Amino acid sequence: MADNVKRVAVMGSTGSIGVNALEVIAASEGRLQAVALTAHSRLDELAAQAKRFRPRWVVASNAKVAAKFDRKLLPRGCEFLKGPDALVEVARQADVDVVLAGIVGRAGLESTWAALDEGKTVALANKETMVMAGELVSELIKKKGGRLLPVDSEHSALFQALSAGKTSEVARLILTASGGPFKDLPLHELQQITVAEALAHPTWDMGPKITIDSATMMNKALEIVEARWLFGVDAAKIAVVIHPQSVVHSLVEFIDGSVIAQMSPPDMRLPIQYALHYPDRVNGVAKRIDWRQTLHLNFDPPDRDRFPAIALGEEAAKVGGTAGAVLNAANEAAVQSFLDGDLHFTEIVPASRSILKAHNHESRPTLEQLVKLDKWARQEVSRWVCA
Ligand code: NDP
Ligand code: MG
Repeated sequence: MADNVKRVAVMGSTGSIGVNALEVIAASEGRLQAVALTAHSRLDELAAQAKRFRPRWVVASNAKVAAKFDRKLLPRGCEFLKGPDALVEVARQADVDVVLAGIVGRAGLESTWAALDEGKTVALANKETMVMAGELVSELIKKKGGRLLPVDSEHSALFQALSAGKTSEVARLILTASGGPFKDLPLHELQQITVAEALAHPTWDMGPKITIDSATMMNKALEIVEARWLFGVDAAKIAVVIHPQSVVHSLVEFIDGSVIAQMSPPDMRLPIQYALHYPDRVNGVAKRIDWRQTLHLNFDPPDRDRFPAIALGEEAAKVGGTAGAVLNAANEAAVQSFLDGDLHFTEIVPASRSILKAHNHESRPTLEQLVKLDKWARQEVSRWVCA
């Protein structure tokens, strides 16, 4: 194998991020190699991916589903591992150079933590890890010398724009948000929103959890907290602007008033490619702006009454400690309840807010405390649903 090949563990390879990451790997002309693939329940898709990419490790993290899986579907030479601990096992392998964190939700925490604990590079899509434990993750990186490269499009944009100046010269990070499908819907109609309507995102094709988060704008709330810890910037310096075209992925305003933006059509393959090939830029598969066409870009301040989630993200980023873990878990459980038909769309944010307010805030929690609180917040959502 050539020395410059990066061996990538694709965590959550059957998801929206995972599938896009595999396209980037397939187009890399051998510079990237998928050495591990992981999925939770879509094991037929996982097996098809394994046939195509011939990884060394294939992980089925849901042990119950894995028990029914026919290993003969995998090509020879693949090691088949089962259960959530196997995610950690592959993330720690010496033969893995980069871990692409594409698992959705809190379930992504342990494998990202393990990779950073080994001093590895993580290409991070799984923002929930930073929302839950961003401060501890930052400390782990300092201690073990690992690295986080953002895959979330806004944070990839910020990361690229930040290279135009010094950290001390940053006045503001400006996160763009499409506004989701309901930014212009009369407020009284929000109450009746169905799961199918909430899953129809105007600009991005993503997994169900983040698509609902985009509709409530909790996604932007989580991204405020993610940016706070990824870039070590005070919460007060992070702003949100509505940009319906999703072409400017975020902006950095420097102290002299210069604003640096990163632009490209909405296509996750670009930030994934940038993170996996970093520090190189390559000619890849992502869509490009067609400069022969008229391009209109709009920027509007967010309607904070319509999208109360934004204030929750600002608060969690400001107070730190246990707030992010509680907000993340409450939201994750509330979104699942909405998808299951047990909660109205308009209850997701109030449930999250009330659980965030009810918890006993700690400013310097351990990882174990955060994991406990995560469980507690999920139980509180069940109580809210039953009430
Ligand atoms: P998907 O729902 O499409 O995919 C999730 C992946 O995680 C699947 O491979 C799934 O396996 C696996 N998974 C689900 N539950 C578990 C679990 N309990 N343990 C282990 N693995 C699990 O999500 P997305 O790809 O949309 O999102 C992934 C992450 O990336 C999220 O954190 C999201 O916020 C972030 N992100 C996504 C973007 C996007 O464009 N999709 C953009 C920016 C960030 P299986 O399919 O087998 O069930
Ligand atoms: Mg994003």
